[in-house]
Amino acid sequence: MANVRVRFAPSPTGHLHIGSARTALFNWLVARRLGGDFILRIEDTDLGRSTLVHERAIISDLKWLGLGWNEGPDMGGKYGPYRQSERLGLYKQAANNLLEKGLAYKCYCSQDELEAERQAAQEKGEMPKYSGRCLRITARKEDRLAAEGRKPTIRFRVPKKKVVVKDMVKGDVEFDSEVFGDFILVRSDGTASFNFAVVYDDAAMKISHVIRGEDHLTNTARHLLLFEALGHQPPFFAHMPITLGADHTKLSKRHGATSINEYAEQGYLASALINYLVLLGWSSPDAREIFTPEELIQLFSIGRISKSAAVFDIDKLNWINGQHIRALSADSFTRIVAERLTKAGYIKEINSIENKISLPKIAEAIQTSVVKLADVVESARMFYEDAPRPSEKAIEELKGDGAKMVICALYSKMSALEARKDIDFELAKELLKATAGELKEKGLKGKEVYHPIRLALTGLDSGPELFYLISIFGREKCLQRLKGALQYV
Ligand code: GLU
Repeated sequence: MANVRVRFAPSPTGHLHIGSARTALFNWLVARRLGGDFILRIEDTDLGRSTLVHERAIISDLKWLGLGWNEGPDMGGKYGPYRQSERLGLYKQAANNLLEKGLAYKCYCSQDELEAERQAAQEKGEMPKYSGRCLRITARKEDRLAAEGRKPTIRFRVPKKKVVVKDMVKGDVEFDSEVFGDFILVRSDGTASFNFAVVYDDAAMKISHVIRGEDHLTNTARHLLLFEALGHQPPFFAHMPITLGADHTKLSKRHGATSINEYAEQGYLASALINYLVLLGWSSPDAREIFTPEELIQLFSIGRISKSAAVFDIDKLNWINGQHIRALSADSFTRIVAERLTKAGYIKEINSIENKISLPKIAEAIQTSVVKLADVVESARMFYEDAPRPSEKAIEELKGDGAKMVICALYSKMSALEARKDIDFELAKELLKATAGELKEKGLKGKEVYHPIRLALTGLDSGPELFYLISIFGREKCLQRLKGALQYV
């Protein structure tokens, strides 16, 4: 096979959203899997809606996801420029060539005339399409319209035939070109239409595979006709299934966050989003669901892209994010925790001896439970703030005789420790074990022992395992809180 060259071609009219990020990812995976090139092309021919601010935001989101490219507007390359607004001359010239060959023609119809045609078709219950009126225009009339100052568009003379899109996902899909009407290649303001710019660029940039959403399938049939007119072999096509919201309607803002930067801000990991996005329309042969990006590069294949719609499921994304957080090394997660707690104002000096001891412990205590990085502060809050007053139900529990015995037993064991001693996890476990052993003899076990301790130390019903709490709080704070709890007893 010739060199694999794939592209991601966003229109910079908004943020990078879930659907486009998935398109970028699938293309990136194909390029990396097959040792090809991944090209970023900015499709900004809609000058009214495209902005540089959005282009920059898309680029920064792609970089955050880790989907790097080999050629693009920010770095150049052999087939540039990579912004369509900088290629208008090329499209114009290509359209003129088609005019000369009689494969395209100038159309002088005004917006009003076209609108009237559209309405007439609708009234007859027909699909609106351009009538081809200007195809038959006389040279004299053309001169007159041009002299009036009318600026023509250039339309493609759509050949009448059956077009078969040989799609790598959907198989052969047949279209009758009759329904397209002669569509515009170059608008009267000199800008190229989406269809023309895409085909011209895919040909000029030697794109080998076009992988995009199935909403483009009908366009692809038009594109095949254009490739033929330009005398260029078309690329392979793969159309990915659409993504729906949980209620099975088209994914939109109504379903929650739709742009990648919002997920980044909420504390999703890039690797987890990549993992989640790939499952929106692809599955591994062994039904496995958790992957690193490197593993995906080894496993991905167009052949396993699904035909049916994908449904966006935030619970699944949360689960996957949790799995990726658990898989972080202790050092990386500790760094994240330190950063977040600094931002929240809980720690001032990351490198103080105290923090150097406590941060890795706190990180380990919460790494098994946080779903998003934004949860870090919430989960670690208990290590920096006073314990909340226990609930009435908890106070009832603390009033029992059992609770008193438990609290006193742990208190005496902890006060026997040397002051200022660092209580590591092992020592904390031993203290708990010894306390439990002592109370077993008095007929208390399991939850009857551990729950009052948790309530006394945190005022809360649940949280990290007790040995973490004891080790992180240390001797003085534990003693103080155990003593505090005795007021309820
Ligand atoms: N600019 C188009 C879009 O954002 C890209 C279409 C294509 O990949 O060919 O939908």
